[in-house]
Amino acid sequence: MYLSKLFIPILKDLPSDEKIKSHQLMLKAGMIKQSAAGIYSWLPLGFKVMKKIEQIVREEQNKIGAQEMLMPTIQSSEIWKESGRYDDYGDEMLRIKDRQGREMLYGPTNEELITEIFRSSVKSYKLLPQMLYHIQWKFRDEIRPRFGVMRCREFYMKDAYSFDLNEEDAKNSYNKMFFSYLNTFNRLELKAIPMSADTGPIGGDLSHEFIILADTGESQIYADKKIFDIRLDNFKNEKLSLDKMRKDFSSIYAVTDEKFNEKEFNSKVSKDNQVKMKGIEVGHIFYFGEKYSSKLNCLIDDQNGKKIAVKMGSYGIGVSRLVGAIIEAKYQNNIMKWPQSISPYEVAIIPNISKNNREYLKKGIEIYNKLKKQNIDALLDDVEENMASKFKKHDLIGIPHQIILGAKSSNDKFEFKEIDKKSELLTLDQILSKLLK
Ligand code: ATP
Ligand code: MG
Repeated sequence: MYLSKLFIPILKDLPSDEKIKSHQLMLKAGMIKQSAAGIYSWLPLGFKVMKKIEQIVREEQNKIGAQEMLMPTIQSSEIWKESGRYDDYGDEMLRIKDRQGREMLYGPTNEELITEIFRSSVKSYKLLPQMLYHIQWKFRDEIRPRFGVMRCREFYMKDAYSFDLNEEDAKNSYNKMFFSYLNTFNRLELKAIPMSADTGPIGGDLSHEFIILADTGESQIYADKKIFDIRLDNFKNEKLSLDKMRKDFSSIYAVTDEKFNEKEFNSKVSKDNQVKMKGIEVGHIFYFGEKYSSKLNCLIDDQNGKKIAVKMGSYGIGVSRLVGAIIEAKYQNNIMKWPQSISPYEVAIIPNISKNNREYLKKGIEIYNKLKKQNIDALLDDVEENMASKFKKHDLIGIPHQIILGAKSSNDKFEFKEIDKKSELLTLDQILSKLLK
């Protein structure tokens, strides 16, 4: 893409009303535009990043055998009345009446709808286990929408649901998701810590929140710093190994403020190991057994022909929240550096262009075409502007690699740098091999 063609409405000044850097930066870089309180349009740059995050989430769900589907955003109130949550959910639920006067709602989550789908077709244990997921917009009428995409009213979520015959199998599904979440956040270059959590309005008895550390987070966390040392590559995607993995994590103290108890913290964690920090919740998983299946009459025949309620769990990742959360975690010294895996472009080509010298631009176009042939998605900065302003703009856009064409480059060697590091002079072949790695 040529920068002059990209729809990227960069703001001149940093919006000063917004309290946190991800919100300021996403507005300033033209990634999002607010359309109502807590409701945003995603402009090309922001949308591209979100779609890349979504794809990583999808691949890691597919790897553990979860199957993708798509449920609608608008739901009927009937099933919510069956589960008893139509009243319990309160003002966070956006309620709508259609022209026949039927009560509808914009889904804040999908436990009821997926249970209804499941009960209407699955009658026997033979079809278990099942794991289904979708990636879909949700609406929660948050009392205080704020921090841009981090706490909005309309947001994009991956939610998965597991169905099992008994508690042991259900815990295995839970462990698979737990493992999948850690792998997902690793690929996003985030250190997410699983914290034992309260189950809240979803209900149930086993739950973990995945939290990434950031000063601007809304969750207060208390942990033993040993939790940072557990290595994921020590575990395999097998029943026993996954069980050990979750037990290893769960044996180390790590909770959010809801579960925090000073006495317990001091007795379980030595003073030197105590970590008290702020974090952002990026995922939340629950095992809640028969909570919905019994209320909604989702019954199957077990091996003995006896009707039993299926054991369920639900598993969410805030895909749109992650865009902001990653900025909070990665933005340093006024420079944004996207993880390569989700960067809007792989490399920025930045030629020095002036009225009487278009040579570097010509070279830039030549390099751009060569990269394109190798399927490398580059952004060519073809705008005539001084180099200092260009660098400032790219510090905002955050593409992690740059090829700079100016006084330092020769006929066949160009400045190549990581956005926050010093540059080196390399041939195009050398640059290619670095990028393709
Ligand atoms: P929170 O405590 O932050 O309100 P929650 O416990 O209500 O989150 P879940 O119902 O578990 O959230 O939803 C799963 C994921 O969806 C969360 O981990 C979070 O990443 C994301 N999420 C929840 N509410 C919002 C929101 N208002 N805006 C953006 N993302 C959200
Ligand atoms: Mg909430």
